[in-house]
Parts: sequence; C-alpha cells; structure tokens
Amino acid sequence: MWRSLLPLGLNPDTGGYRRFAWNTADLACREWFRTEAAARGLDMETDRNGNLWAWWGPKGPGAVVTGSHLDSVPDGGAFDGPLGVVSAFAAIDVLRARGFTPAKPFAVACFSDEEGARFGVACAGSRLLTGALDPGKARALRDLDGVTMAEAMERAGQDPDTLGRDDERLAGVAAYVELHVEQGKALAFTESPVAVASAIWPHSRWRFDFGGEANHAGTTRLEDRRDPMLTYANTVLAARKKAKLGGAVATFGRLVVEPNGTNAIPSRVRAWLDVRAPAEEILAAVTEEIVQAAGERAGRDGTVLAAERESHTPVVEFDHVLRNLLTGTLRQSFGAVPVLPTGAGHDAGILAAAVPTAMLYVRNPSGVSHAPGEHAEDRDCLAGVTALADVLQELAQ
Ligand SMILES: [Zn+2]
Repeated sequence: MWRSLLPLGLNPDTGGYRRFAWNTADLACREWFRTEAAARGLDMETDRNGNLWAWWGPKGPGAVVTGSHLDSVPDGGAFDGPLGVVSAFAAIDVLRARGFTPAKPFAVACFSDEEGARFGVACAGSRLLTGALDPGKARALRDLDGVTMAEAMERAGQDPDTLGRDDERLAGVAAYVELHVEQGKALAFTESPVAVASAIWPHSRWRFDFGGEANHAGTTRLEDRRDPMLTYANTVLAARKKAKLGGAVATFGRLVVEPNGTNAIPSRVRAWLDVRAPAEEILAAVTEEIVQAAGERAGRDGTVLAAERESHTPVVEFDHVLRNLLTGTLRQSFGAVPVLPTGAGHDAGILAAAVPTAMLYVRNPSGVSHAPGEHAEDRDCLAGVTALADVLQELAQ
C-alpha cells in the first residue's frame, strides 16, 4: 500500500508532495483509496462533503470509524495523513487475520482537504461535515488561480450544492480514532513507538498591520524615518521572547511588504502571527503581551499598529472515556504509553465537537513534519498498526 501511494503527487525537484484538494494528485489518491477499499470488499461511498467512507460490513448507527487524510501541505512529507489511512486498511487486514469480525458497523474514512493548502481553510471536509464551516463560504473560497472550491469540486464530479452539516452521518458514529505521525519529537526521547493524544492546544491567528512612511533608502536620515519594518522586526523578537517565557509557541511566517523595493523604506508591512499554547489563559496572555510590545515599539518608531485576530480555534480535549479505553487496551501489548498534547490541528479535533474522538501518534525520530524530512521507522509504523487494530477490536467487538 505504502509503495503504491508514494509516487502520487511527488514533486521530484523538492522531494515533497503537492496533493491539494481536488487537484490531479489528490484525485489519484482518492482513486488509490477506492482501489484499496475494493481489494478488501469494502463498500465505498462519498459523503455530501466529499469525504470518502469504506464500510466493512453493513452501514448503521454505532459505527466505529478510523482514518485520516491523503492531501498534503505544499511540498509536504509522505506520512502526515497517509500513515493514518494506510494503517486503517492494514488494521483491517490484521483483524481479519486474527479471525475477528466486527459486531458493530465499521468504516475507514478519508477526509477531504485537511491541510487547506489550496483554498486556505484547514480541515474543510470535516468542518463542513460538522457545520463548523459555512457551505456558502466554502463554495466561494478561491485558490491562487482564481478557481473556486465549487468549481474545483464540480470538475472532479463532486456536487458542491450538497455541502453542509450532515446530522444523520454524525449521529451514526460512536467513535472516531485517527492514527497520525507525531509532529514533534516527544516520543523520540521515550521507549514507546506510540502515544495517545490528550488534547490539541488552542490556536489563534492574528494579522498585524504596521504603517509607516515610504521614503528614499539613501537620503532619509535614520532619525527622520518612520520605518514599519523596524517595528515588525522588533515584534518578531518580542513574540519569540514572550512565547518562551509563557510556555507557548509563536510564529511570524507570512509577510507582505509595500512597496517592496530594495531602495525604499516600506510604507506598510503586513505580517501574520500564529500563536499556540497549552491552555486558553496562556494563549490569551502571551498574545496580549506580543500585541502590547508591538504597540509600544510602534510608538517609539513613529509608526502605526493595527492588530486584528483573524481566527481562533479553542482547545480540544479528546473524549476521556475513549482515551482511557485506548491507554487501557494498549497497556496489554505496549505497557504504559505516553499521553501527549499537540500543537497541530487534525480532523479528529474538528470531529471531537460532534462525536467521541481519540488519536494515536506514531513516533517521528526527527520531529520534522510538513516537510520532505518527515519520517517514521517501519517498525514503529507496524507497531502503530498493531495498536490501532487492538483498539478497534476493543471498540467494535
Ligand atoms: Zn495530518
């Protein structure tokens, strides 16, 4: 399975993947999913929001569902998403080899557009399913070529008019368990190849507008400048310091400079801040400190600051009963496994608002993710499959 999936959407120049919602590579991945489902005699269906479901046995209420996503970030790694889908099919093979037949409805799901690489909204498939993303808004989202999500779906044979919260489907799911490659390296320092997720950190995105005055880079005296780049640069340093002191992470990863000339002092710098923290109070306090530091610096530089929060994703606590069932089951074959929070978002985090949800992580020795260096060792991936099979067996018996 892994070998047949590896070439799809691989960019040979960077060694990374470009599997973006509804593009050629993504459609090839969806076809790959169909083939694997068919090879196992599973019943395939596409839901109203473009997510794929492969049913082992009859559909029905009380379903045990596992899976992940197959799309990627720009030049992403091979494991983020695909490891969960491949492990889900492999877990069915393991359960069948054990002679197990689920007593409950059982499905492998592949959520559409998890990374949001093309249309800018992460977890679009699961957000539409749970009603966390407005269908009209989703349809109108545009990619860099001006193609709307509705147009992209139509070209791929998916009806965009049926998007929206799917109460019937959600009511039929008793548990969703997503296996995912670890996106940090907490497990690299332990003896355990797998871990259970406790929570997803709350997460905010802010836009900072630093306004100043464009002028000549050669003739304007330093003391006469109103340079927004200087305010921005100091804000980056402040963000790093405040995040470190507060136990959070803060990142400025996107920047638009006007007029963007080598020999001109900028008139405006727009920058986007991504802040995540273990708790809402920490997130709020650290963000407040960064905004305040930017404002103070703007005062000293003669520039103007406008800071606006563009989005906030609250903390996700995974279902405690399900989490305890996972750790209890895994204790038998793996001993006590670590229970870890993460700063990364997942479909499981979105679904947690509607159905009991849990996650399993597989060790990533370097901690690299969203880049070609993302990796997990074969033996750890196999341990992940065993862990997932054990948990699914416990849930579906
Ligand atoms: Zn992922």
